[in-house]
Amino acid sequence: MTAFGIDLGTTNSCIACVDESGRPVVLPNAIGELTTPSVVYFDQREKVWIGRAAKDAALLAPDLAVQLVKRQMGLEGVGFTFHGTTYTPESISALVLKELTSAAQRHLGEPVRDVVITVPASFGVAERTATLLAGEIAGLNVLDILDEPNAAALSYRERAPVQGPRHLLVYDLGGGTFDTTVVRVDGDHVEVICTGGEPDLGGADWDARVRDFLLDTFTRQHPRLDPTADPHFMKELSIRAEQLKEELSTMTSRHRSLAFGGAVVPVELNRRQLEELTADLLDRTLARTEKTIAEARRKGVPDVDEVILVGGMTRMSAIMERLGKLVGKAPRRHEPDLAVARGAAMFALLKQMEQGAGQGRASRPAVRLAARMGLGEKQAEKLGSQRATAVLPRGFGTKVLDINDPLATTNPALARAYVVHLIPAGTALPADTGPVTFHTAIDNQPGIEVEVWEQASEESSEELADNKLIGRGKLRDLPPKLPKHTPVEITFFLSETGLLTVNAVEPASGRQVRFDLQIGGLDRSAVDLARTFVARHDTSS
Ligand code: ADP
Ligand code: MG
Repeated sequence: MTAFGIDLGTTNSCIACVDESGRPVVLPNAIGELTTPSVVYFDQREKVWIGRAAKDAALLAPDLAVQLVKRQMGLEGVGFTFHGTTYTPESISALVLKELTSAAQRHLGEPVRDVVITVPASFGVAERTATLLAGEIAGLNVLDILDEPNAAALSYRERAPVQGPRHLLVYDLGGGTFDTTVVRVDGDHVEVICTGGEPDLGGADWDARVRDFLLDTFTRQHPRLDPTADPHFMKELSIRAEQLKEELSTMTSRHRSLAFGGAVVPVELNRRQLEELTADLLDRTLARTEKTIAEARRKGVPDVDEVILVGGMTRMSAIMERLGKLVGKAPRRHEPDLAVARGAAMFALLKQMEQGAGQGRASRPAVRLAARMGLGEKQAEKLGSQRATAVLPRGFGTKVLDINDPLATTNPALARAYVVHLIPAGTALPADTGPVTFHTAIDNQPGIEVEVWEQASEESSEELADNKLIGRGKLRDLPPKLPKHTPVEITFFLSETGLLTVNAVEPASGRQVRFDLQIGGLDRSAVDLARTFVARHDTSS
């Protein structure tokens, strides 16, 4: 059975598989496009539009559409209500996945079941689990969740196999997010060294600049007309702004005429002007990239060997030029909006091969893919066995009182508290901390509240404000007359699927408490319910 790779993007999604000759290929959607806008439009009860039609409809009726849902994956308590039904971010994403897989199924004439779905390297366990559940809700068998830069690295690797360890800088500028990551590729191993970015910076910001420019040109000639009051005009303007921007990647100058209130204004925009209008945006991505390179250097990567461009926005030539100057290496770019899906398809096939190892010969596409990558069959299997989500992107810890604060003994509720990360970001999963010793704060302390906090900012910090409380348990009925500073041992165990088991014990009395937290995600019954429900939706648009 064919395995598929899916780039479930913030603005566009894409599905690919590896063909008979071992080459990853992207499959077109129902209207022949290689990428599908990740937009769901709720036309009627259980009748939704997905993709281009939804994106266009959303410009006039944004209240009936969900866009950029990826930014809300893994957040608890988020719901979107349409025609009397509430949808979670997981269900919305499942609808997008269903659209992609049904189109692929029609195109190939065979069922789509086994998939690898990609996520940004910065996604935490909660967001990853939510993505996995979205796949399950769509009725898919999710072989794994893979980091987008790793997928991009694999895809480039297939085009230009190299030997020996390489460090790649993956610069990914999409429609609404920017990620910059250093990845190490070494034979049968791919791993993220460090990652950063701006979650709210992307092509849409470039579009807004072009839109403002067009509007400005119009109103300068007709100051008494106010086209901003007309939603149809503004919708047209948004569509045209994005088109203009995209056309200027291949053409050096474009014309448009804007018509409103009986006035017609011809406008010209050239590539140089576009670059000037958006220079500060590009600068922001470059500054962030420098930080990522510096961080990689601190982690022992002296130099990046290659620069890879990913995301539709990197078709803009100014990005390639400026980034090339910054790093001192010519970046590589090849269909940057398809690379992630292609790499995911390669990984999906290698995963399948590894799972089927020993049950007969590897499939022809798998053997050929391995050869294209310059890997032997065994090495390819090993790459497929790699846990794609092996590294924890954000740390977990527990809250402790600062015993140097005099209030800690007199009024603990008011004393300074901070977070100790028991499982720091970057730890390989599964992770087991073993018992870590803490101490009671006061004499005769009756119990201990064990709070679990997840790192909430990119940099690890012990301040409560930079962390998020995600659960708690209570160690009750400690023996009477315990002196202050009695040791208590806390153990965290985090599985690969995001199940965190916390154990706290007071060794002298043996009193203990144990609790589990599912980091992110719905419970089983909610997933099953959503699956039946999403299956009922008519997505043919
Ligand atoms: P995401 O990863 O956010 O889902 P993509 O990688 O598909 O998104 O990038 C989408 C962005 O790329 C959009 O802003 C789109 O306008 C832009 N884009 C697509 N093609 C081009 C092009 N030829 N020139 C410039 N920008 C482009
Ligand atoms: Mg993307």
